[in-house]
Amino acid sequence: MSRERLAYLKELGVEYYVPRTRAQPDARATESGVEVPLMDWETLQRTVAGCALCGLQTTRMQTVFGVGNRKADWLIIGEAPGADEDAQGEPFVGRAGQLLNNMLKAIGLERGQVYIANILKCRPPNNREPKPEEAAHCAPYLERQIELIQPRIILAVGRIAAQNLLQTDTPIGRMRGRVYDYGARRIPVVVTYHPAYLLRSPGEKRKAWADLLFAQEACKRGDRPQ
Ligand code: URA
Repeated sequence: MSRERLAYLKELGVEYYVPRTRAQPDARATESGVEVPLMDWETLQRTVAGCALCGLQTTRMQTVFGVGNRKADWLIIGEAPGADEDAQGEPFVGRAGQLLNNMLKAIGLERGQVYIANILKCRPPNNREPKPEEAAHCAPYLERQIELIQPRIILAVGRIAAQNLLQTDTPIGRMRGRVYDYGARRIPVVVTYHPAYLLRSPGEKRKAWADLLFAQEACKRGDRPQ
């Protein structure tokens, strides 16, 4: 839960209790003396590299911070590193990554033009789904990346990315075809299928193509309410 969101809830008179499993900002501030929401890129990357908040540090090879243009218009958010990403320290470098690169190319974007990150910075063992407490511990890092990049559009690829980013349980099929907004800056978010799913279900690529065009339109329109 971001500070902004807590402030909104307070404004509405809604009490929110921070779950015990949720990392407190102080726990992360100790090393650098700076809280995550105020970190610059270098401090954030160093903090992520040394993170030991959720237990995945015991099984990861390395953290996977994110890659790309830090001033990108497009931010792509996936689920979590897999084996290839864990080995190379870069998101979406396996087969799903190849497909993602091609999907981006299809709308005229090179991989290096966008920024790519995940809900989790560490690989869950055996590629299991992220646990809610892992996602909660990791969320402030992604929140800070988003704030630093201030993209014009966020493309959430896959159910886990979409549900965690938008804090909903809505099935992915129902989230497609709509522009959501993220955070106080109300950055437009469009949801599409995960490339790994598209590799298993190539018949769905047509829908993903429609989603990309939809996201491109939202980006061009500057669907960012003031
Ligand atoms: N799948 C993801 O969601 N992220 C990656 O980085 C790789 C595969």
